[in-house]
Amino acid sequence: MTIAQNLDRIRDQVTRLAQGRPVQIVAVSKGQPPEKIREACQAGQKAFGESYVQEALHKQSFLSDLALEWHFIGPLQSNKTTSVALHFEWVHGIDRIKIAERLSNARVEAGLPPLNACLQVNLSGESSKSGVPAGEVAHLARAVGELRGIRLRGLMTLPEPTPDPDLQRRRFSELRMLKESLQALGLPLDTLSMGMSEDFASAVMEGSTIVRIGTALFGERLRKP
Ligand SMILES: *Cc1c(COP(=O)(O)O)cnc(C)c1O
Repeated sequence: MTIAQNLDRIRDQVTRLAQGRPVQIVAVSKGQPPEKIREACQAGQKAFGESYVQEALHKQSFLSDLALEWHFIGPLQSNKTTSVALHFEWVHGIDRIKIAERLSNARVEAGLPPLNACLQVNLSGESSKSGVPAGEVAHLARAVGELRGIRLRGLMTLPEPTPDPDLQRRRFSELRMLKESLQALGLPLDTLSMGMSEDFASAVMEGSTIVRIGTALFGERLRKP
């Protein structure tokens, strides 16, 4: 299967499951060479997700002739915040106010429009260390929502992989309800970044607005993260 064929198949599936809601596909290109990004772009894909700053900047320099939208989906380290703020339109993994402040300051200093951001939530039952616990999301969301250089769009989660569709859906519905509870507090959120190659169908059925898809689109990664 070519990238264009994979993209067609994924788009069809997402469209069918979304039942008329718009869902954005972010093509996760970490561990993939720039030629594959170019190929996906030729097939109409404009949004790409990367997890490692150096790798991303290197590829962006090869692809500077294309009008692409870059999403940073990796763990955010404070010494990389300026690069992320300057070279990406979205960040999906904010889980600390200090990181958000640094990103915001870098955007403001550069005179760039606010950076689109999602808070990464560590849902109950996950062993992963990154992500803010559900009980602390409202506090963090309020603080991030105050920052001039950030436009808080919503929530992101990276659940432990499971082949059980019921379990997948339960986790994604937790994130959706969490977003609804923040909206009820008056936070203007419009984004649920959830769903990857193995579980995007469950995520879309539970209200995902952005799916982040790597291997199902590009095949296996060259460099395992
Ligand atoms: C790697 C990665 C993805 C894509 O994973 P696939 O299983 O290849 O689709 C999505 N989101 C995040 C945060 C990732 O790190």
